[in-house]
Amino acid sequence: MSLNGKTAVITGSNSGIGLGVARELARAGADVVLNSFTDRDEDHALAAEIGKEFGVTARYIKADMSKGDECRQLIADAGKCDILVNNAGIQHVAPIDQFPVEKWDAIIAINMNSAFHTTAAALPLMRAAGWGRIVNIASAHGLTASPFKAAYIAAKHGVVGMSKTVALETAQEPITCNAICPGYVLTPLVEAQIPDTMKEYNMSREDVVKNVMLTRQPSKEFATVEQLGGTTVFLCSDAAAQITGTTISVDGGWTAL
Ligand code: NAD
Repeated sequence: MSLNGKTAVITGSNSGIGLGVARELARAGADVVLNSFTDRDEDHALAAEIGKEFGVTARYIKADMSKGDECRQLIADAGKCDILVNNAGIQHVAPIDQFPVEKWDAIIAINMNSAFHTTAAALPLMRAAGWGRIVNIASAHGLTASPFKAAYIAAKHGVVGMSKTVALETAQEPITCNAICPGYVLTPLVEAQIPDTMKEYNMSREDVVKNVMLTRQPSKEFATVEQLGGTTVFLCSDAAAQITGTTISVDGGWTAL
């Protein structure tokens, strides 16, 4: 399929899943806007590389997704936003009675409130263009819970709920809004933890992956950033035009348990 002529804005896309999604959207022909809160040469170089590799226009725009006005400014600076992927996210793990208030506020702001601001800013552009796709990267933790992740789980459940509401508000327009719920995904951050965990448990890589990291993922395999990018591209396709207000799990069976 071709997304030629479409512009995609992907929040939090200078690493991990966001970068993988940006690359797959570019591979499908979309112009892409990468984002994070830093403004380093390497951020802009990343966009330039994607542009060159896939023959699309690729830009990097700095905006801090913990700040509502910067979320809205990102969409304004992009100028066009046919595809919005709300991906920026952080995590903090602590029991709720010891959960630092500033961590709670940051997680709710970046993982949930940013999607409110970018969606509110992008919808008028999608309506003017007569087409739009909103893809929210939630989590298996948008559908289930684990202890010590109260802020993350509250935010991800919130994103799933907001996706349904946006879908209802746009149901009679050529705009869809869905949430992808990944299980554990092999990102550079996760990959980097494997050698230390192997040492800590005196285990092989395979044992660490299957028996320590993927205890809740029945497939015993990580999802990949390419698979999440492919799922996003599918949600942007004509085949997915009637898929709205729902979640797609990419979790190796986690939420089937
Ligand atoms: P990551 O740390 O590699 O990527 C997070 C991205 O968000 C980075 O580009 C980072 O720069 C950006 N970011 C962080 N704070 C920001 C801010 N204030 N403003 C703008 N950008 C900011 O992690 P990831 O694993 O790729 O996670 C991406 C998304 O996928 C997150 O929403 C995460 O909750 C979700 N997710 C990840 C997994 C997993 O196993 N990795 C599983 C389920 C859901």
